[in-house]
Amino acid sequence: MKRIILLGASGSIGTQTLDIIEKRSSEFTLVGFSVGYQADMAEVIYARFPSVQAVCLRQEIDAIEFKDKHENLSVLYGDSGLLDLIKETEADMVVNALVGFVGLVPTITALKLNREVATANKESLVVGGKLVNDLLDQGHGKLYPIDSEHVAIAKLLAEAKEKKIDKILITGSGGALRNVPLEELPNATPEMALAHPNWKMGKKITIDCATMMNKGFELIEACVLFRRPMEDFEILMHDESMVHSAIRYRNHRYLCDISVPDMHGPIEYALEEGKGKYEIKRVRSLKKLKKFHFHDFDPKRYPSVEICKKAYEKGGNAPAILNASNEVAVEAFLNYEIAFTEIPYYVEKALKRIPFVENPTLEDLLFTDSMTRGYTRERINLDKR
Ligand code: NAD
Ligand code: MG
Repeated sequence: MKRIILLGASGSIGTQTLDIIEKRSSEFTLVGFSVGYQADMAEVIYARFPSVQAVCLRQEIDAIEFKDKHENLSVLYGDSGLLDLIKETEADMVVNALVGFVGLVPTITALKLNREVATANKESLVVGGKLVNDLLDQGHGKLYPIDSEHVAIAKLLAEAKEKKIDKILITGSGGALRNVPLEELPNATPEMALAHPNWKMGKKITIDCATMMNKGFELIEACVLFRRPMEDFEILMHDESMVHSAIRYRNHRYLCDISVPDMHGPIEYALEEGKGKYEIKRVRSLKKLKKFHFHDFDPKRYPSVEICKKAYEKGGNAPAILNASNEVAVEAFLNYEIAFTEIPYYVEKALKRIPFVENPTLEDLLFTDSMTRGYTRERINLDKR
């Protein structure tokens, strides 16, 4: 029986992870979980999973209320609560379904404790990829990605003949604004950008899909996970999000990973450590596949991808600046404070202004994150005046 701690249980990846733990209850058991501001979700989740021993909420006031009702449970709160949840609860695997930079320290803490980590939280790999890989190299813990493209690539690489590989093609749908004429993009509203054609996800990643900052992050995530250089990867635009990624051989044969766009599959794959019984979702017949459309990537429409590549190549704390400024800019866009096309503008500004640190420690990354947030927020406020 694999004992699981789930961080971000109330989110899109979190709730789909709960589905799998419940469906395969003879193999997986939930021992601890966290939710953000949706404290009422904690009651619902605990009622569904009585195996839980510890719960972490975002706010102290919610934690006190929850503890009053459930004296037998360990109830924690805040950023330190997330870490205590990992440290104090006996578990085999930590599933990180948090969104944003807040996921970094929990990933590192879990690895240091030699836990298996299944992470959907790509921000922690973008910002702290080097620290994470150093820990893995020192023999601390194991890491499994929960991202449809990366699970696809892991499966494909396990089968591919390395010598024959020309490129690894990371597919991307282009997000909700893919058909909006370029000159109309500055007027795109949050409602328009949130209407993703193929996936139902949290708000932040849905906006990242519309800018394709998400694809830039995924390129970095792929370099970190598969320990390969950026040149090994190429973006392939694919409308239907059915081909989750592909390998092109030098002789132009292709290996493709195809399945319906549903994150239950990649989550299940990570939960079973890539061993791939993969029972819940499969395309069982090729007849189910309809038309597929592929296009070239358009760097003019999606300047964020080049910004990500440059930040990764620069290294040091640049990816931390990239991530923090993007988080602030996305939130400002969702609050109708800046235009859609200003998201990459503020990210570039921060990358130019925040001091570069070549070999950042975890403390340096935390400092960079908070400095970048402060700078970007202030810049947006000044520009609004
Ligand atoms: P979401 O917004 O739906 O859920 C995020 C979860 O994190 C929620 O439980 C929320 O309460 C919690 N949370 C947010 N801020 C917090 C904070 N400061 N402290 C504690 N908890 C906090 O997001 P999501 O779509 O599930 O995405 C989660 C991660 O998975 C992201 O990194 C995203 O890029 C990645 N991802 C998501 C999908 C998807 O289909 N949703 C696919 C691939 C990768
Ligand atoms: Mg993805």
